Amino acid sequence: MSLEALNEQVKKDLSYIAHPVFNVEWVKPASHPEGHVYDVAIIGGGQSGLSTAFGLNRERITNITILDENPAGIEGPWITYARMVTLRTPKHLPSIDLGIPSLTFQSWWIAQHGQEAWNQLDKIPRNEWMNYLNWYREVLELPVQNEVKVDLIEPINDALHRLHLSGNGAKSKSILARKVVLATGIQGGGEWHVPDFIKSNLPKSLFAHTSEAIDFDDLKGKRIGILGGGASAFDNANFALSTGAKEVHTFIRRKEMVRVNPMRILEQSGLIERYHSLNDEEKYAAMLHFFKFNQPPTNDTFNRASAWEGFQVHLDSPWLDVSESEGCAVVRTPHETFTFDYLIISTGLVTDPSLRPELKQVEQYITRWRDVYKASPDISNEIIDAHPYLSKSFAFVPNCEEGKEALYGLFAFNYSALISCGVSASALSGIRYAVPKLVTAIADELFQDIKPSILKDYFEYDVIEFTGNPKIPAK
Ligand SMILES: Cc1cc2nc3c(=O)[nH]c(=O)nc-3n(C[C@H](O)[C@H](O)[C@H](O)COP(=O)(O)OP(=O)(O)OC[C@H]3O[C@@H](n4cnc5c(N)ncnc54)[C@H](O)[C@@H]3O)c2cc1C
Repeated sequence: MSLEALNEQVKKDLSYIAHPVFNVEWVKPASHPEGHVYDVAIIGGGQSGLSTAFGLNRERITNITILDENPAGIEGPWITYARMVTLRTPKHLPSIDLGIPSLTFQSWWIAQHGQEAWNQLDKIPRNEWMNYLNWYREVLELPVQNEVKVDLIEPINDALHRLHLSGNGAKSKSILARKVVLATGIQGGGEWHVPDFIKSNLPKSLFAHTSEAIDFDDLKGKRIGILGGGASAFDNANFALSTGAKEVHTFIRRKEMVRVNPMRILEQSGLIERYHSLNDEEKYAAMLHFFKFNQPPTNDTFNRASAWEGFQVHLDSPWLDVSESEGCAVVRTPHETFTFDYLIISTGLVTDPSLRPELKQVEQYITRWRDVYKASPDISNEIIDAHPYLSKSFAFVPNCEEGKEALYGLFAFNYSALISCGVSASALSGIRYAVPKLVTAIADELFQDIKPSILKDYFEYDVIEFTGNPKIPAK
């Protein structure tokens, strides 16, 4: 099968489930003096934003837009700052296809490379994943506006939000929407984290976080120190060595490397799909456990990195301090002091709605985990406590009467949903269970908003359907 044939198959499959043949919008348009009001604005055109849009279309909610700050085709991490060779997710997991077989990555791959190539494929190459996302967006004709950044969400009257925009793709300074989905990705609930002692002791020219653009050409023949023991640290080590770095030293605080990947048991256990039925205590404990392990590197990445002569791992080696000397970075660990030409920081992210510029006007109303659940002191974790406490379907929960109106219609479908909603928008492993929950909640809310007029139309409906003339026997 070719890609053209697959495109036809997708159309056929969708027509079998009456999509988009009966795709008549049921949500009556809202009017506003400023102009058009979208029923749903989705911030972020990565896989979460795209699949949410497809899910909404299947619910016959079509007056929607997706806004992404990046040029088309480079949304999300995949071909910018993700530096692994393949995805970490097992290749066979269904995800954003939402149950349509011809929309799976597997179908897309087989259409181009054949069944045998699929059987031989170990994990999904990350640039191919981006290509698949581009195809998905195109074949489903999803309405993405690229190079549009949402700077601020402003709640206004009548349960509407004004989204303030910037960027080359923005056709206006703002748009209006009834519902807003923050499909803003892994850092979309906070920001990437670089420890203060690095930021304050070194000039920016000597270090970068893994999430930044790094000029690896410039690092050819250089000595690099990487802080962190998670998967990204090893992705960057391998990438640097494969592009010509002389030595890469990876520093890990733990005495042993993490060998267990809790994501794999989450995928098998029912915990992803039934997470919403856990109570707060169980959710807290489950995610504390997840954070304890985090994601180890894939064997493939580790083996690739280890194959380079210049690769070294230092266990039990937290950085005690860093300083600059003669244009280099000096790193002190409990065992030794090292001098590097450049440092790459792989210390993850912090989640906290107060760090998000687009939430500036509403973050004070957002309930956090610390407001609702007090973990016992021996397990209490500040990182978890700072996460927003969301409803089962990703809605922010207001912490006061005033916040009810401000937060109404806002959904956090990003990494910050991890504690409340489990593995959902944060990884492919959970997205197929999460999107339907989000979409149902949005559809329910829209329905409630316009219920009186829908009921009025229903009661007043008088279109004649039956036109037969029954013969009435003469008396
Ligand atoms: C290095 C790395 C490797 C990963 N590997 C895997 C993996 O193998 N498997 C897996 O399941 N997950 C992986 N992840 C997690 C990964 O981030 C998610 O699975 C995936 O990217 C989530 O998709 P998303 O659509 O939610 O977010 P993203 O793909 O990050 O997309 C969000 C989009 O929103 C845009 N955006 C954010 N804020 C705004 C704004 N204010 N205005 C306009 N646009 C905005 C962003 O620029 C981005 O394009 C990895 C993450 C990283 C960082």
